[in-house]
Amino acid sequence: MSRAPLAGQVADDFSRLTGRSPEGVWSAPGRVNLIGEHTDYNDGLCLPIGLPQRTYVAAARRPDRTLRVWSAQQAAAVEVALTDVRPGHPAGWAAYVAGVLWALEREGHDVPGLDVAVDSAVPVGAGLSSSAALECAVAAAVSDLAGLDLLGSDPGRVTLVRACVAAENTIAQAPTGGMDQSTAMLCRDRRALLLDCRSWETRLVPFDLAAQGCALVVTDTRASHELTDGQYGSRRDECLAALAELGLGSLRDVDVDDLDPALDKLSNDVLRRRVRHVVTEIDRVRAAASALESGDLSQLGRLFDASHASMRDDYEISCLELDLATDTARAVGALGARMTGGGFGGSSIAIVPVDAVEETTSAIAAAFAAADLTAPVSFVVEAGGPAHRES
Ligand code: ADP
Ligand code: MG
Repeated sequence: MSRAPLAGQVADDFSRLTGRSPEGVWSAPGRVNLIGEHTDYNDGLCLPIGLPQRTYVAAARRPDRTLRVWSAQQAAAVEVALTDVRPGHPAGWAAYVAGVLWALEREGHDVPGLDVAVDSAVPVGAGLSSSAALECAVAAAVSDLAGLDLLGSDPGRVTLVRACVAAENTIAQAPTGGMDQSTAMLCRDRRALLLDCRSWETRLVPFDLAAQGCALVVTDTRASHELTDGQYGSRRDECLAALAELGLGSLRDVDVDDLDPALDKLSNDVLRRRVRHVVTEIDRVRAAASALESGDLSQLGRLFDASHASMRDDYEISCLELDLATDTARAVGALGARMTGGGFGGSSIAIVPVDAVEETTSAIAAAFAAADLTAPVSFVVEAGGPAHRES
């Protein structure tokens, strides 16, 4: 297996920090969601791809029940006894690591103490799911080091997904719906993952824009992206309030053809807009999967544009930077563009003809400079593979 430079580097870091060799290196990808935003906690559909950018962990068992973690992206090492891991403890980034061990132990697995060194190429806090990449790389390591053997089958991988979601929700205390962890565990090269967040069934859909002369351009707007600042939670609460008024268990139960009568039942315009986004977005995910299956990138682009408008106007989770990046991409000739991730910053994506990629990224940079905004970072991504052992 060819080794990524970061995989070698994190193994070297591990040896320098602990004075011994790691027992292995594992990695998991960041993700970008093509379409289907804020649908996961509404039992809906989404369509993410794994990124070529990955998080790498080098790890080795310890004879005691202690977890020690280092990260190239963090200043301080953290040490915690496994018996002390609980909601909110450890605080900060180590919760994403400790939470995975806690969750697997809670499911009845024997989990050893570990030394873990982390390094990552996934931009942190850019809406590209560095948190799930970290959890899933750790989960892959624990699966192998504790002899759980969960990486070898999809059901085993889904067990790891659940542990990573529990780690993030319960120990890191960050709300997450499961899309990120499912992608990091189940994605495939040159495929998008159509994910049903009600049944947790998945279907792989062809995703190879290069074969059609196009590229997916991701723009990290560098605008602050905080899922914990209350906006994410307030959207979830508004969906619950709408369900109470509709007398339904899930917005997935509202068919797009029955949307208008459902909206008429709601007591206010905010709830009507929120429900309209969720229901039409789920429908757009189905249409996007069909467009990819039939190779219709123009249609996929139109769906991107409609999705962005829905998030900007109905779900109200866009911001100046995301609107500017997507408007600029469209003006230069993108087939479609949308914000991706939870919103309020983070990243946008655009489908761009290969020969217009440079012009598009320069135009976005120029527009940000003219608006006196922090310089964005744009890059082309292809769909990458899931969590695995590197060495
Ligand atoms: P996103 O997942 O979109 O990047 P989140 O806010 O969900 O944003 O997760 C970011 C957090 O995950 C960071 O603040 C940090 O606590 C943790 N994290 C992610 N990657 C790393 C890493 N390589 N090293 C240490 N902590 C990380
Ligand atoms: Mg995250």
